Parts: sequence; C-alpha cells; structure tokens
Amino acid sequence: MNIEEQKKHARTYADLTYHTIETKCKFCGKPVKLQIADIYPGNEQELSGLRTCDSCSDLRVERRNLDEKIRHICLNLRMLPRAEIKEAKEDAARRLNVLVPRWCALASRWHKAEVAFDESMVESMLKEPMKYGDVLGRIWSMAKKPRPSPQPGLPYKDTP
Ligand SMILES: [Zn+2]
Repeated sequence: MNIEEQKKHARTYADLTYHTIETKCKFCGKPVKLQIADIYPGNEQELSGLRTCDSCSDLRVERRNLDEKIRHICLNLRMLPRAEIKEAKEDAARRLNVLVPRWCALASRWHKAEVAFDESMVESMLKEPMKYGDVLGRIWSMAKKPRPSPQPGLPYKDTP
C-alpha cells in the first residue's frame, strides 16, 4: 500500500509502514533509534526530541513508583487514631526500611554515585511523615554531590 492508501485504510498498526530516524536520548544523549509511521501527521523533529533511551526511562518509572509507595505509607500515618499509631509506625518502618534503601540505590545509579542507606532516614520520615519528600530530596542531592577522588593525589574526575 502506498501512503495515500494507508491513510485511508489503515485500521491496525500492522497495516502501517515505518521508517527509522536516529536521534538522541533527551536525558543522557545516548543515540536511540525511533520508528515513525510513514503516515505520521506531526512534526518528526518534535517527536524525536521527546525520545528517551530504555535505561533512562526505566530509571524514571522506578523513581515514580518508589516515590508513590513511600508517599502512600507516610501520608497514611497522618490521621491515625492514637491507639493505632504504634502499630502503624512499626509497620511503616518495616516497609520503609525496604523502600528507602531502594531509593538510595536508585539515586546512586542515576548519578553514578554511592549513597549509603542510613536508618536515620527512615526515622526522620516516621517522625515527620509529611516531610517525607524532604528526606527523599536530601538523599537525591547527596548522590548529586561530587565525590572526592578515591585515590589521594589524583585529580577528581566526575563521570558524566
Ligand atoms: Zn538516556
């Protein structure tokens, strides 16, 4: 089918023909290929500017999932009757002690850094659950900070 016929008759993706363009991940700049339907009516340049590579989009999905889970746990602690607080906090602590280390590991992978989990991170979330976002943000910026060179005497070299 030629393009005009496809425009008229394409009912499923299987009917379409595609071409590939080379572009760059908008986050890390890694080259990525993008398949575009030949009948795509929009601006291809615009579309290619939105492309992310698999590893950048995986990281972003994971960040969103973790943030949502942690937020859910912390916001749950807000309005508990006094009688339930102790048990709820213990339960929250148990779950946060799994999720917050994963957040540290994610921040480390994201910034190619090393942020060690520390129980005080969970403790501050339990103390002020509404400020859970501050703790997550602090962990994130710890990963962003330049680290000293592991070998003394050598100039510090950051990995992009
Ligand atoms: Zn990327």
